[in-house]
Amino acid sequence: MQHKNSKWPDIISRKMEKYREMMFEAEKYIWAHPQTGFKEWIAHEYLKQKYSVLGFIPIEAGNIPGFYFDIDTGREGPATAVIAELDSIILAAHPASDPETGAVHACGHNCQSAALLGVAAVLNDPEILQELCGKIRIMAVPAEELIELGDRSAMKEAGILKSISGKTEFMRRGFFDGVDLAMMIHTDTGSKHNLRIAPGTNGIIAKKVTYYGSKNKSGAYPANGVNALSAMNVATTAINALREIFPEECLIRNASVLTEGGTTPQYLPGKVVIESNVRACEYKVLKDINEKINRAYTAGALAVGAEVEIDDLEMYLPEKDCDCPDFQKVAYEVGCDLFGEENVTFDRSRVIRNRGGSDMGNVGAVMPVIQPFTMGITGVGHAVDCQVTYPEYAVFDPAVVQASIACVLLENNGQRAKKIVEDYKPLFPSIAEYLAEMDQICALKRPLTYDGNNAVLSAK
Ligand SMILES: [Zn+2]
Ligand SMILES: [Zn+2]
Repeated sequence: MQHKNSKWPDIISRKMEKYREMMFEAEKYIWAHPQTGFKEWIAHEYLKQKYSVLGFIPIEAGNIPGFYFDIDTGREGPATAVIAELDSIILAAHPASDPETGAVHACGHNCQSAALLGVAAVLNDPEILQELCGKIRIMAVPAEELIELGDRSAMKEAGILKSISGKTEFMRRGFFDGVDLAMMIHTDTGSKHNLRIAPGTNGIIAKKVTYYGSKNKSGAYPANGVNALSAMNVATTAINALREIFPEECLIRNASVLTEGGTTPQYLPGKVVIESNVRACEYKVLKDINEKINRAYTAGALAVGAEVEIDDLEMYLPEKDCDCPDFQKVAYEVGCDLFGEENVTFDRSRVIRNRGGSDMGNVGAVMPVIQPFTMGITGVGHAVDCQVTYPEYAVFDPAVVQASIACVLLENNGQRAKKIVEDYKPLFPSIAEYLAEMDQICALKRPLTYDGNNAVLSAK
């Protein structure tokens, strides 16, 4: 018989059977009702009702979707959060997309939400809880996908949000206060029991850049006008000129779309809006590259005498900066117990391979986190062929893995969790200090001022 690292995976798998149907039904329901970040009210209501049937009272965020609650052992000890994301992406070409909004769960977050129901249900068992200490915080969190920046910056301006990502917003609301470590599991392509422990999502800064040129200056008589679209063209060239100095190993990317580019050739474009993502796999590099790219955006404005506003809306910190091998090791052991060593990937040489980003990196800036992957999806994430084909692997497996990890962390007086927390060196010593630095970086900047004759007064 294969050596087992822990008794918990077997116990949890057995007990989880009772919740299989509930989880599979939730996966299908949320798949059929996709909504994008901060609009996930259907999933919110559905899950809230399911949790209340299980005897939990979720503490709701209120003016945005999402909630949390604690399963308390009643004994002193570490608090472990288990997180599920609520939001869909937008991909109108996907056959399952909402015909009105284009929303579709082509990133599989519906599986996370379904699995979390099972995690909460199974851990609430007195037989299990009596062997654990501390508490488990169950968190249904909105808005991981960094999309609809216009809508979200409007929500920020209206005072509904302070951050445009769900996990950062939850941190700002104090929902992570008292939490010592956090985990989630994302779904991935494949058709077998499998756990892939591969930390390394890329960091992202999402920004909105607005150029202002002359208002209603005729296209036929443009003399002495300011063309906001030309400012963008110069900036694009300036950014392209920077690309050759990007360090190769840092996975630096910059992609932009034009969301407003003028109204008619009869007038010079007076206002141009760009949404842009800057990516890099290290926090310091990301900050540095972002400043250079902002300088290039400013250069575009300066060249033609346009005004520019650069709104750095949100930063997703790279997971490289919150790499926690000790925590990953717990997931590895649980994965081996459940699926056999041959079905667990834990390759430290592949720490930085993932070009996508996640706000789980932001949680990792202040506490140990893991975000492994299980299989169950066919097709490619974020693509038109993405389907949840095997709920066994996409929903049941992550439920068992996460509940088992929670038990390993919190048994024996929380020994394992305490050691992980003690040895972890977070980028920021506290949530408050992390948020204070984000307030500096994620802010609206007006780098140029002109005098009445369009001469530059200051540039920074
Ligand atoms: Zn995604
Ligand atoms: Zn995702």
